[in-house]
Amino acid sequence: MQTSIATVSLSGSLGEKLDAIAAARFDAVEIFENDLLAFPGTPSDVRQRLNELNLGIVTLQPFRDFEGMPTTQHERAFARAERKFDLMQELGCDLLMLCSNCSPDSLGGIDRAVDDLRALAERAQARGMRIAYEALAWGRHVNDYRDAWEIVRRVNHPALGLVLDTFHILARKTELNSIRGIPRDKIFLVQVADAPQLEMDLLSWSRHFRNFPGQGDLPVLDFMEALSATGFDGPLSLEIFNDQFRGGSARTVAVDGHRSLRFLLDQLAERTGSSAAGVPQMPPRARCAGVEFVEFALDEHAAPKFEALLGALGFERAGKHKSKSVTHWRQGDINLVVNTEKEGFAHSFNIVHGSSVCALGLKVEDANATFNRATLLLDQPFQQAVGPGELQIPAVRGVGGSLIYFLDGGTDLGRVWDIEFAKARDTATRPAGLVRVDHVSQSMLYEEMLTWLLFYHSLLDTKKLPVQDVVDPGGLVKSQVIETPDGSLRVILNGSLGQGTQSSRFLSEVFGSGVHHIAFATDDLLKTVRRLDENGIELLAIPENYYDDLEARTDLSPAYIEELKAHNVLYDRAGDGEYLQAYTAQFEQRFFFEIVERRGGYSGYGAANAAIRLAAQARNAVPDAA
Ligand code: MG
Ligand code: MG
Repeated sequence: MQTSIATVSLSGSLGEKLDAIAAARFDAVEIFENDLLAFPGTPSDVRQRLNELNLGIVTLQPFRDFEGMPTTQHERAFARAERKFDLMQELGCDLLMLCSNCSPDSLGGIDRAVDDLRALAERAQARGMRIAYEALAWGRHVNDYRDAWEIVRRVNHPALGLVLDTFHILARKTELNSIRGIPRDKIFLVQVADAPQLEMDLLSWSRHFRNFPGQGDLPVLDFMEALSATGFDGPLSLEIFNDQFRGGSARTVAVDGHRSLRFLLDQLAERTGSSAAGVPQMPPRARCAGVEFVEFALDEHAAPKFEALLGALGFERAGKHKSKSVTHWRQGDINLVVNTEKEGFAHSFNIVHGSSVCALGLKVEDANATFNRATLLLDQPFQQAVGPGELQIPAVRGVGGSLIYFLDGGTDLGRVWDIEFAKARDTATRPAGLVRVDHVSQSMLYEEMLTWLLFYHSLLDTKKLPVQDVVDPGGLVKSQVIETPDGSLRVILNGSLGQGTQSSRFLSEVFGSGVHHIAFATDDLLKTVRRLDENGIELLAIPENYYDDLEARTDLSPAYIEELKAHNVLYDRAGDGEYLQAYTAQFEQRFFFEIVERRGGYSGYGAANAAIRLAAQARNAVPDAA
């Protein structure tokens, strides 16, 4: 199967787009005519560039408003087609993509369309070319792939075939079974796109909101399953009209695109039990059993303050690295690593980002298999020299240039604390009842959210929850949860739409995207916060109004609400489930910790309280404000 992407999907000049597409290891491209028109060289120059980059050319597109034109405009339509053929000849491309007619002048009638397309196919054949016909979802007379197929079938000409475009088919919820009956040699091109479920007109939805398979809500995999019944093995091309992508980095978007295709084909192989020819087989999505460790990059000034905070949170200093300036802190199943090295990855991360989370270690079933899958998904591997007796932990780059390490119990990786660290038991600490990492929240540019959604979702066995809007005093924040089916790993991506939100201040102050808070779970939150209180931890102050409102809208007893208020605890309820939350102050205005307790199967994140928390933090961030 040939992987391809339409140049319209990316930002930049045609030259930049082709470089990005080649760097993302696609086999071929669809050349969008506007990109060609804006190109300062000749079509032969483009052809030569494609040769140098070892990129095939799938089609030139689009050719519009051809079939069913009234007699007066007939000849002009054919003359336009001949000019496209000239261009294609120079480009070295043999396939012209024709969209079904949208012109108000066009006339319906299948016989007329059949006659026109037959005549066009004859002319194409005479020049060694072919035509691929696509039913646009908003085509005037043909807007359903089954009608387009009926026309192609009746023309019955070797130079005429179909384009199947997932957006046009799935946006109209057209049934997919008829695809199975189309002979594969009549499908000249398959275009794949996903999109978020939105209520709007088809044209605007398609032109601005398409995204890569796996990033949206359309049943692209169902389409692929029907397509695979035909035995189709031709070009599979991403055609994505998306305002964000056209404003983003062409290189990043191209890699995301190829990752999405590989993930789609992998899911298809899993569903049908056989993989398409030429598609790399990859280990299955990794089952993640949670966060094994969180690593902080700190300098020598910040470290003592931070370690004092960890002590007050009930963590014990469990070990000291045998050869590095790195300490291991533990409470329950939570492992924190404090790295104050003067060289290496954590050090350079600290120079760029200040005190921050530089890495997450994830517990998976098979770390090497997970790493192999990541590599096949074009995730960026990371390696640095390790000292004698140290483990080479497989890792890839995550959000904001941080690292994601993979650890498993089946190898030495499961004994990293024993192998690399000398015990330094600090018996003075009294634990505060924190048992595990509940969730990790990462802030990023809104434009990056689809990238990291696809990153986590394609690599790990996770599901994505619907995007939520959270109101920050400085603007709107989009919040996307990705979690494993059992909730052992929960990651929240926050993308800010306003310049003044806490999320976007984080981005400018911390020089990029990264972990913004880490939530620890306790089995008894009130007991935990009482202990933190004794230890001198100051929790984020929640306004009294919140508790008045809580009293009004719940049946919690006044005494219980008093207790929540005394410790600045937020409360949420969903069905029989209850959720208690409290927050530490921000460390150096960069990140903070959350303490949560889930009761009765509560599976959310206290979304109802998020705005309260953000407003409280905004007050703290500006000490002079009233
Ligand atoms: Mg299309
Ligand atoms: Mg949270």
